[in-house]
Amino acid sequence: MFDSLSSRLTKTFTGLRNRGRINPVDIDETCEEIRVALLEADVAGSVVTLLVERVRTRSLEQISLDKKGINPGQQIISIVHEELVAILGGSARRLRYAKTAPTVIMLAGLQGSGKTTLAGKLAAYLKSEGNTPVLVACDLQRPNAVDQLQVVGGSVGVPVFAPEPGNGVGDPVKVAKAGIEFAKQKVHNFVIVDTAGRLGVDKELMEQAKNIRDAISPNEVLFVVDAMIGQDAVNTAQAFLDGVGFDGIVLTKMDGDARGGAALSIASVTNRPVMFLSTGEKSNEFEPFHPDRMANRILGMGDVATLAEQAKKALDGDSAQKLEEKFISGEKFTFDDFLEQLQAMKKMGSMSKILGMLPGAQSAQMKKQIAAIDENELTRAEAIIHSMTPNERQEPKIINGSRRARIARGSGTEVFHVNNVLDRFSAAQKAMKQMRNQPGLGGAANLQMPGGMPSMGGMGGMGGMGGMPAAKVAPPPKRSKSGNPAKRALEGG
Ligand code: GDP
Repeated sequence: MFDSLSSRLTKTFTGLRNRGRINPVDIDETCEEIRVALLEADVAGSVVTLLVERVRTRSLEQISLDKKGINPGQQIISIVHEELVAILGGSARRLRYAKTAPTVIMLAGLQGSGKTTLAGKLAAYLKSEGNTPVLVACDLQRPNAVDQLQVVGGSVGVPVFAPEPGNGVGDPVKVAKAGIEFAKQKVHNFVIVDTAGRLGVDKELMEQAKNIRDAISPNEVLFVVDAMIGQDAVNTAQAFLDGVGFDGIVLTKMDGDARGGAALSIASVTNRPVMFLSTGEKSNEFEPFHPDRMANRILGMGDVATLAEQAKKALDGDSAQKLEEKFISGEKFTFDDFLEQLQAMKKMGSMSKILGMLPGAQSAQMKKQIAAIDENELTRAEAIIHSMTPNERQEPKIINGSRRARIARGSGTEVFHVNNVLDRFSAAQKAMKQMRNQPGLGGAANLQMPGGMPSMGGMGGMGGMGGMPAAKVAPPPKRSKSGNPAKRALEGG
């Protein structure tokens, strides 16, 4: 997400950060670099001008104050951060709940914007927060839209109200109204209404969306827009705002990089907040939008807050609690715990996405490491642990050379893969021990970062990250092995 924009800005600021003095010419140069970076990322021209001028004026004011002891470069970066947060909508807005349930959310947008996929993600998100949503199939135009919504609902375990077959048959206004009645009867506290889209903005589409909106008075009309369509995203948003009206924006396909910058302008141009992001095709690739966190990501400062929230969700309440108790009581960290962490990490999405949210992810070194990540490694590690006996999972030290060969055969991997998992496990075990010995470092927040992530500080070779996969593993060169299996296990060879 915004990789090239972020890389460019990170480069601009690297020089600035260490400067003792900054003069107006430096500020002009920095502003010019920011302007070009934003325009190249496809941020709307009017928004770029506004942001750059505010940064320039505020930075000039700041340097004229010449405050002693405050790093001027850092101050300018803070100003850019604040101005970015402002164009992204200021503060995060949460969904408005109806005074009397159900809360009704209507989704509008063009065909192909990812509306149906998003309906499922939003439902899954609401469900994970303890709600009881129902999906209502009002896209009766697009071939198979009703079936698709049913599949999407089924995959996240959320019921779908779909009395009409669609494919041009049925009245969407009637279905929307009946959907709300259904929700009341069955005590669903959220109704998500999926409406029809067209390939382009047209009068009929606007009329239909407006009629549904008037008939059900939703608490939120969310405009779903594909961030990859560049400046058209802003134009379409404006057309929907004029034609139907909406309260918030959902940006989809934010996993792409090319033209996503346009999406940054939407909040500013339409004066409506971005509320959620969709970052992939899987149901968990979805997150509430926080302008400040997004500004952090764009400026290469990472987004550890979102990462921690996702980790907490991925490790369900029971396992997190169990792990915490184990940690506090000093009980041994075993391969069963490790497996749970790996599974939680898999739920969080791809490794490159997770690591991309860490501070410094835009640095050349981290980028190289991220590019070298083997996404299959979590799956392989899972297979390896599944091929261990319960005894071996509790006491990995008993895994000698012949057991390693057997585990490799059983999991369809090579011995060096097994060695690698054992190495990683002992690193995670060590990290747990170290954390326990450092006062103030324990507690749920740290533990809920799966895969030994608490030791992320030493990003160096990612070795301390426990469950984190390393770069693609190559078979190690032959080396002399100890005759002692336990010692060999510790050596990982
Ligand atoms: P609708 O016509 O608006 O209902 O769009 P769909 O939900 O059917 O999505 C259109 C296509 O975009 C499908 O192939 C989805 O899998 C894909 N899609 C949806 N959201 C995302 C996303 O956030 N990232 C990516 N890469 N693809 C997405």
